[in-house]
Amino acid sequence: MKAIVWHGTGDIRLDTVDDPKIEEPTDAVIRVTRGAICGTDLHLVRGTMPGMRPGTVLGHEAVGVVTEVGSAVRGFTPGDRVVVCSTIGCGTCSYCRAGYYAQCDTANPNGPAAGTSFFGGPETTGPVDGLQAEYARIPHAMTTLVPVPENVTDDQAVLVSDIYPTAWFGARLAEIGDGDTVLVMGAGIVGQFAALSARQQGASRVLVVDGVESRLDAARAQHAEPIDFNREDPVEAVRELTGGIGADRVIDAVGVDAQRPISGPVADQPAEQFDRERDEAAPEARPRNGQWVPGDAPSLAARWAIEAVAKAGSIGVIGVYPPGFDHFPLGEAMNKNLTVKLGNCNHRRYVPKLLDMVAAGTVDPAKFITRRAEPESAIEAYRTFDRREEGWLKTVLDVS
Ligand SMILES: [Zn+2]
Ligand SMILES: [Zn+2]
Repeated sequence: MKAIVWHGTGDIRLDTVDDPKIEEPTDAVIRVTRGAICGTDLHLVRGTMPGMRPGTVLGHEAVGVVTEVGSAVRGFTPGDRVVVCSTIGCGTCSYCRAGYYAQCDTANPNGPAAGTSFFGGPETTGPVDGLQAEYARIPHAMTTLVPVPENVTDDQAVLVSDIYPTAWFGARLAEIGDGDTVLVMGAGIVGQFAALSARQQGASRVLVVDGVESRLDAARAQHAEPIDFNREDPVEAVRELTGGIGADRVIDAVGVDAQRPISGPVADQPAEQFDRERDEAAPEARPRNGQWVPGDAPSLAARWAIEAVAKAGSIGVIGVYPPGFDHFPLGEAMNKNLTVKLGNCNHRRYVPKLLDMVAAGTVDPAKFITRRAEPESAIEAYRTFDRREEGWLKTVLDVS
């Protein structure tokens, strides 16, 4: 089968690899009908999330059809349409039972202390071959797969594989309550769904910070208040918009790859110049020899979040900060009595509920899809997405 395979930092290829097989009685195999490229994939390709094993199939967002189930799998039969939860949980250990699927004791082959296991990730997460492929092996199928309601399309469902639940989880971490003013750092696809989730969880106002105009336009289209960090100081803007108090809650949907403000509007620059400026602006945004060095990494989104939140406010962090990153402004957070919660989404906890909300017509996640690509052009799609080009919010892969 065809699959997008990681060979090295900056080196991914569309390869022909062996079809996946049932390896454990709790496995299933699916034929992927829709996949997607995610910001997390870019971390793996850029090397900001180190430790990938060459030969690993990328991708952790997909919708598909079950083709085969292991002897212990109940509740699924070949032909069922399913969405795949990006993180893998066994469903029976004490962590899964408490809803912490991303901290499952048994899913990660590296042991219970290794943390989250997810598709298409670094060695420490499995590795488990990913979903940007024609077929995929799904470990712990009874919890990792969720049936797709009949009236939910593949395009809608693929955004419930990772993006929507992650954003929803971020809003939960931020402890959003009725009437809150919520600041979302980052207007990429997770930021868009974070703005939506904040509203659905009770926020009265949502402010969104980003530096790409088309992304801020998308935020404005859902009645969030856009702040362009290339045109104004975002912390000052938040204070001004909140009577000097700051936002009650913040969702950091950026993580370690924060861009510094660059000179001139992004859209006016050729892509190569934008690449160069980004690299020059944040040269330390790369781990050295595959390892983060203390004091080395940019924590701009986290800093802005801490400065812009109100005293005694709360911050939910869902943007990726990889293991080894230890440059968080703890002192400033302490001095403001902040609550900071962070982590990898416990997908299985939210996916069924969010699918039901989509099925009920409460929201149409597919409206955020801006690009489609055939697997053959996926490598180029990765490059363009990496440049944060205008108009690129979410790329789905039409595999079927
Ligand atoms: Zn993702
Ligand atoms: Zn478990």
